[in-house]
Amino acid sequence: MKSDIQIAREAEKLPIAQIAARLGLGEADFLPYGHDKAKIAHEVIAGIAGRPQGRLILVTAINPTPAGEGKTTTTVGLGDALNRIGKQATVCIREASLGPNFGMKGGAAGGGYAQIVPMEDMNLHFTGDFHAVTSAHNLLAAMIDNHIHWGNALRIDPRRVTWRRVMDMNDRVLRQVVVALGGPANGVPRECGFDITVASEVMAILCLASDLADLQARLGRIVIGQTFDRKPVTAHDLGAEGAMTVLLRDALQPNLVQTLENNPALVHGGPFANIAHGCNSVMATRTALALSDYVVTEAGFGADLGAEKFLNIKCRLAGLQPDAAVLVATVRALKMNGGVARADLAAENVAALQAGCANLGRHIENMRSFGLPVVVAINHFSGDSDAEIAALSDYCREHGVQAVLCRHWAEGGRGAEELAHAVVALTEGGGDFTPLYPDEMPLAEKIETICRRIYRADQVEFLPHILERLNEWQAAGYGHLPVCMAKTQYSFSANPAALGAPEGFTIPVREVRLAAGAGFVVAICGDIMTMPGLPRDPAALRVGLDADGHVQGLF
Ligand code: ADP
Ligand code: MG
Repeated sequence: MKSDIQIAREAEKLPIAQIAARLGLGEADFLPYGHDKAKIAHEVIAGIAGRPQGRLILVTAINPTPAGEGKTTTTVGLGDALNRIGKQATVCIREASLGPNFGMKGGAAGGGYAQIVPMEDMNLHFTGDFHAVTSAHNLLAAMIDNHIHWGNALRIDPRRVTWRRVMDMNDRVLRQVVVALGGPANGVPRECGFDITVASEVMAILCLASDLADLQARLGRIVIGQTFDRKPVTAHDLGAEGAMTVLLRDALQPNLVQTLENNPALVHGGPFANIAHGCNSVMATRTALALSDYVVTEAGFGADLGAEKFLNIKCRLAGLQPDAAVLVATVRALKMNGGVARADLAAENVAALQAGCANLGRHIENMRSFGLPVVVAINHFSGDSDAEIAALSDYCREHGVQAVLCRHWAEGGRGAEELAHAVVALTEGGGDFTPLYPDEMPLAEKIETICRRIYRADQVEFLPHILERLNEWQAAGYGHLPVCMAKTQYSFSANPAALGAPEGFTIPVREVRLAAGAGFVVAICGDIMTMPGLPRDPAALRVGLDADGHVQGLF
């Protein structure tokens, strides 16, 4: 089998104008970025807003394990398969962060014969959106310290500035820094720190904004810290939102690229899936829905975090109506959920697989509780045994869910045609989507509802100062916001080692943050890293150009 990058390099790409034409877009409707990338123009997006919407299909998964699940690969494979069976379908996914590429994560454009191209670009600078987010974020940071330096008319308490700085690289030494050392000419010294760009609230805002005016309004609502009297200070108070919007204007336009099978893909925005909501932009999803009959999109992590946030945050805030959920499962990951060590995954183990299915079962129930019809996509790995696949199919049948064996990684769209037919049938009935909680439910109760109904926690433990904070925000008019849970992605519980379907656990809420611009309250349940580090043996050691100038070692 060829590597992902070999397959991607052999792709027979069509000029981007031909891909745009598939969406009914003419030359004036898109802004080319080279031969194989383009942005869809703001004017076009405004013009198609009232069109009938296509069907929206969410690809999500069981809890992730190091064995790999393949959500992006399945999203792309399903998109290609829908096109193969004669449906007009567009894929929508997130852009990749630069940092993890040089660490250990690997690419974010799918894999095998289900990929988006140009994959090197997508995993590197792409169309510069992340640069724009970084710049807009750091402009606000610079304006805060500049304001304090020139007399601090707003009476910002330098000890209570919560707005940090960002960059798109894994660099642990920047997590906590002291700025403005070296005397009065350099500003007022204070503690600060860096997050990775995808953790910026500006990234979440870019991905939830419905147009430029909404983008600017959200940027203005960002709370950067407090005054000496403990009153919130916003980006609007600093007068920063206009300039930030200018920096983000082009970045708000969705990026058009193609799959290996020359079908349209919108790749746009990339918020973290822990302290943010982990899905591509509302702009991209809405544009795709107006231009295609089917839109296949992905949410980060497993369905307990990714799908829950896609539904309760993105769909709620953007008024989207998803029609079906595809739950990706692999034999390998289910065996790990059933207690098998990573080193032993190659051996057949039907009993462990059956035990691990409890994880899948809980996600199936959860998706149904949102009123979404569900199909399980078994992402086939070459080592899977017939007995294991049969046992997984039996489990799904007993739970009243169709399971489809998919080979898109090895075969491209052809390998997911059966899944495509199943998805089309599933969406015929029209979804009956309802969010898990109403807007007016108090913030603390929203957190409890997610912990009990989705994770199945027995208890939710709030430290006293947290309830105080939530009540403060409730009183300040933020009570209607949805909640963004930041928890380990490996388990339903807060303990990453508790795989399968754990019971009898407590979720500790350790910290809460207000993302007033993005429009959610973050509840942090465990240690959440917002600036990753590089591993001892970073992928960067193997990245370089070959004699022909091609990128080597990236994926
Ligand atoms: P996710 O979106 O769930 O993080 P990806 O689709 O990005 O997962 O896949 C993660 C990795 O697993 C990629 O490198 C991909 O090539 C690989 N992968 C996915 N499906 C398969 C498969 N069926 N067989 C082998 N490798 C696969
Ligand atoms: Mg993915």
